[in-house]
Amino acid sequence: IGEPSEQWQEYRGAPTGTEIECKGWRQEAALRLLNNNLDPEVAERPEDLVVYGGTGRAARSWAAYDALVDELRELNDAETLLVQSGKPVGRFRTHERAPRVLIANSNLVGKWDTWEQFHELEAEGLIMYGQMTAGSWAYIGTQGIIQGTYETLAELARQQYDSDLRGRIVATGGLGGMGGAQPLAVTMNNGVCVAAEVDESRIDRRIDTGYCMEKTDDLDAAIDRAQRAADAGEPYSVGVHTNAADMLEAMADQGFVPDVVTDQTSAHDELNGYYPSGYTVEDADALREDDPEAYVEQSLNTMERHVSAILRLQSEGAVVFEYGNNIRGQVDEHRWHDGAAEWASEAETPLTPFDFPGFVPAYIRPLFCQGKGPFRWIALSGKPEDIHRTDEAVLDLFPDKEHLHRWIELAAERVEFQGLPSRVCWLGYRTDEEGHTERARFALRINELVADGEIEAPIVVTRDHLDAGSVASPNRETEAMRDGSDAIADWPILNALCNCAAGADIVSVHDGGGVGIGNAVHANNHVVLDGTDRAAETARRVFTTDPGMGIIRHADAGYEAAIEEATRSDVHIPLETE
Ligand code: NAD
Repeated sequence: IGEPSEQWQEYRGAPTGTEIECKGWRQEAALRLLNNNLDPEVAERPEDLVVYGGTGRAARSWAAYDALVDELRELNDAETLLVQSGKPVGRFRTHERAPRVLIANSNLVGKWDTWEQFHELEAEGLIMYGQMTAGSWAYIGTQGIIQGTYETLAELARQQYDSDLRGRIVATGGLGGMGGAQPLAVTMNNGVCVAAEVDESRIDRRIDTGYCMEKTDDLDAAIDRAQRAADAGEPYSVGVHTNAADMLEAMADQGFVPDVVTDQTSAHDELNGYYPSGYTVEDADALREDDPEAYVEQSLNTMERHVSAILRLQSEGAVVFEYGNNIRGQVDEHRWHDGAAEWASEAETPLTPFDFPGFVPAYIRPLFCQGKGPFRWIALSGKPEDIHRTDEAVLDLFPDKEHLHRWIELAAERVEFQGLPSRVCWLGYRTDEEGHTERARFALRINELVADGEIEAPIVVTRDHLDAGSVASPNRETEAMRDGSDAIADWPILNALCNCAAGADIVSVHDGGGVGIGNAVHANNHVVLDGTDRAAETARRVFTTDPGMGIIRHADAGYEAAIEEATRSDVHIPLETE
C-alpha cells in the first residue's frame, strides 16, 4: 500500500469549519468523511489505511488515497466519481441530483467469491476489503456501534431479565473498533462486563476513552471483582489481557457460568483478524508473516475451542449468542467435522456450532420488520454543539419514545466523540399524517436547523450497512429467514439501486463485511443536509425508500410484523404475502 501520504499526515483527521476546499458541500462531505475514517482517533491502524474490523480499509493504497482526495476536490456538482475497491477509477458527467460518489468494494463473482481468491487479487493490488462502513467512509469510531450494542443488550435484558442487566455478568472477547463498545454498552444497561483481549494496547485505548473501567492479566481477580460488583448491583467492566477462547474455557473448567456469553473478536478473518491461543500478539504477528498456513491452522483450532466453550457454558445455563463475527460459520466450515470438538460431539445429542443463535434473529429482526435501523449523523463543522442541538431536536420530535430519550441522554453523558462529532439512534419507517417516515422527519428537521443557521455547517446522515433492507448475510442479518431466502442477494442490490434512484449523495455496495468474503452483500447511503430545498427533497425520498426496503424485504419473507407495518404505513406491496 506504500508509505502514508503527506496529504494524510497534514490532515490527520477531517477538516472542520465552514470553509470548504471542494466545489460543493456534497463533495466536501465525502472528503471530510474519508479523512474522518482515517483519523488516528477514529481508525484502528490508519497508517495501514485500516479503519476497523480486521482489515477494513478506507482506500486501497496511499496512492489511491491521494487520488481520491484530488478527485473529490475537482469533482463538479453535476459529476459522479466511481470508486472500485478503494481506488478512484473514473468520473462522469451525470446530473446535479445524481449521487456524487458511487462505491463498490470487495465484490467477486459467486464461484470465485472466497478469501483465497480475494487474497490473491489483493496481493496484486486489484481489490481491497471494505468491511461495512470502512470502505464507504461512514465509520465514526466505536461511538457508531455503541447504540447497536446497547440496543441488543437492552432487548436481551427485556427478554431474559426484566429489562435490566443489573447484577448480571456478561463475558465476551475482543475490544477492537466495534467490540470496544461492549463494556460501555453493558454498563449502560447496568450490568458487569468481563472482556478478553489479547492486545493490551486495545484495552488501554478503551480505558482512555471511558469505554472500559479497568484491566488485568489475572482472570481469577477479574472474576472475583466482577462477582462482587454483580452482587452489589454495580455496573462494572474489566478488560482481561488474555485469549478469549482460553478465558471461556477456564471459566467453564472452574464452574463459573456468566449470565451472558458472546464474542467480538475478528473471527470472520482467520488470518488477519483472529489471534490463536498460546502466542503473544508479537509472536502471532511474526508467525502470520513467516508461515500464514500454520497461522490459519492454529487460528481455526483456537476458534473451535472457543465455540466449544461457548456451547459448554450455554449447557450450564448461560444465555449465549453470536455477535455477528461468523465464528460459528468459520468453525462449521473448517473444523468441527474433523472430530476435534470432543466435548460437543460426546454430548447426548451431538451439537453443531449453529446450536447457539445469532444476535439478529434473537434480538434485532423484530426491529427490522418495522424498518428500524441505525440512523447516524455527523457534524461536518466539527462542533460538538451542533450534535447537542440535534440531540434536542430528536427528543422534541419524538416526545413519546421513552427508550430513545433514555438512549440520547445516556449517550450525551457517557459517549465521547471520536473525530467528527456524531450520534446514532435507531429510527424506523412509521409514517406521520403527512406520510413522512420517522427517519425523513428527523432528517428534514436537521436540514431546517442548518438552513436557519442554528447548526453551523451541514450534517451528513448515513447508517451502518447492517440495516433492515440492505443486507444479505445468511450467518447474520438474514440468518434463518422465515421463507428460507437467507442467501438471496437481490435485496441489497435493489437497495443500492434504490438509493441511487432516490438521489442519495454517496451510494455503496460491498461484499464480505463483518462476516468475511463470500458471506454477505450489503449497501449503504449518505445524504448531505446542507439546508437547501434540494437536500430536503433528497432526504424525503431516500429516508422513505431506504427503510421501506426493510419492510418489503421482511413482508416478502412472511413476517407478520412487517406486513402489518406495510398496511399501517401505506407501503405498497404488489402481491399478497403468506
Ligand atoms: P477489530 O479487528 O478492530 O478488533 C478485534 C479485536 O479482537 C482486536 O482487538 C484483537 O486483538 C482481538 N482478538 C482477536 N482474536 C482474539 C482472541 N482469540 N482473543 C481475544 N482477543 C482477540 O474488529 P471489530 O471492529 O471490533 O469487530 C470485531 C468482530 O465483530 C468482527 O468480526 C466484526 O465484523 C464483528 N462485529 C459485528 C457487529 C455487528 O454485527 N453489528 C458489530 C460489531 C462487530
